Amino acid sequence: MSMQLRTLAHLGDSRGKRVLLRVDWNVPMERSRIVDDTKIRLSLPTLAALRASGAAVIVVSHLREGATGDTLAPAVRAAGRLLGGRRPTLVRTAVGSPTLLRVCRALRPGAVLVLENIRRYPGEERNERAFARTLAALADVYVNDAFAACHRRHASVAAVADYLPAVAGLLLQREVEVLQRVLEQPAHPMIALMGGAKIATKAPVIDRLRRSASAVLLGGGLANTVWAVRGYGIGASLVDSDAAPVVRQLLRARRHGAVRMPVDVVVGDPSARGRGHRVVPVGPRPHVICERPEAVLDIGPATIRAYSAELRTAATMVWNGPMGWLECSPFHYGSVMLARVIASRASGRAFGVVGGGETLAALQQTQMAQYIDHVSSGGGAMLAFLGGEALPGLLPLYRTGA
Ligand code: ADP
Ligand code: MG
Repeated sequence: MSMQLRTLAHLGDSRGKRVLLRVDWNVPMERSRIVDDTKIRLSLPTLAALRASGAAVIVVSHLREGATGDTLAPAVRAAGRLLGGRRPTLVRTAVGSPTLLRVCRALRPGAVLVLENIRRYPGEERNERAFARTLAALADVYVNDAFAACHRRHASVAAVADYLPAVAGLLLQREVEVLQRVLEQPAHPMIALMGGAKIATKAPVIDRLRRSASAVLLGGGLANTVWAVRGYGIGASLVDSDAAPVVRQLLRARRHGAVRMPVDVVVGDPSARGRGHRVVPVGPRPHVICERPEAVLDIGPATIRAYSAELRTAATMVWNGPMGWLECSPFHYGSVMLARVIASRASGRAFGVVGGGETLAALQQTQMAQYIDHVSSGGGAMLAFLGGEALPGLLPLYRTGA
């Protein structure tokens, strides 16, 4: 028995059908200016395909809490510019009102309607069935293309799929295919590079990847937390303080030789913001690396060399999480150097997968992001997927087959 993801190919003839399309247009904004329209661009192939097939599309997206004006208006304008042709219309009529139902029923093939920020409705984050049913009543089929929201048990991602035929859009399909391959049949050897802040959310990924990876290279706050648990002195370093049990599990993994730790670090006083720093070697037995007010803020040159050499042996590379304090020069250096190595090997010599909010920011600094084979659109969702979690948004899109 195998599980098959239902996709646009399973939709059949969509001419004249109304499609409820869940996208992630939760783009970063300053005032009402969009700082980065990547998420909108990524959603356009599915939107265009549905339109071309003669469907009318009802777009649903969320905006994070506190987002400027709480309205999708800037995203809708940007989508209109990028799409060309007939512009999508933002409707402010409430979900559940008879007017909206009438408007949706009257949609012509190729029309695109966008519902206002779905998190305005309390039923959304509570995954309320009644709300999901009301949403579903607007359309004939449901297409989920919001991979970045699939780890959320929210009505427009999860419950709605119980009330309509549900399939994955093109972006979601690609995410699942690539990440599934990384988990189940990567080209070997696979090397994973993991850093960033929260080891508790990343430990399941490290654990899962090391089953097929020849090495998992640790850095950033993750490495700090491992040192703290093992009794190294790390001063004022960033640690995930309630992650001790999770780290002990990792340390067991370390005996398998698959998890590597930095052999040197850059330490400095964070309040000096980059003025004054030094390289400290890190030994295999616990010792004092630095004392307050100093902190471990980046991986050191010997580690960059060692990790680069490992990455150069890889046929598959997976990277999530900065190696140091990305927002403060020169502590971004380790992350950007390894981002360069990964980008320079990707698109040919090795298959490169990169994901995570701050990780992508580091990748952008290299001006080489276009070489990465797969830049995941989902930070939290990618981690949940790679950690082996069942994603509430994905489950209803599978069909059990022979
Ligand atoms: P992502 O969003 O890519 O998954 P995280 O959210 O887990 O990454 O963590 C990124 C943050 O961790 C960045 O803001 C980075 O500056 C910080 N960070 C990583 N290592 C360190 C360190 N050694 N000291 C201070 N901050 C660090
Ligand atoms: Mg982050």
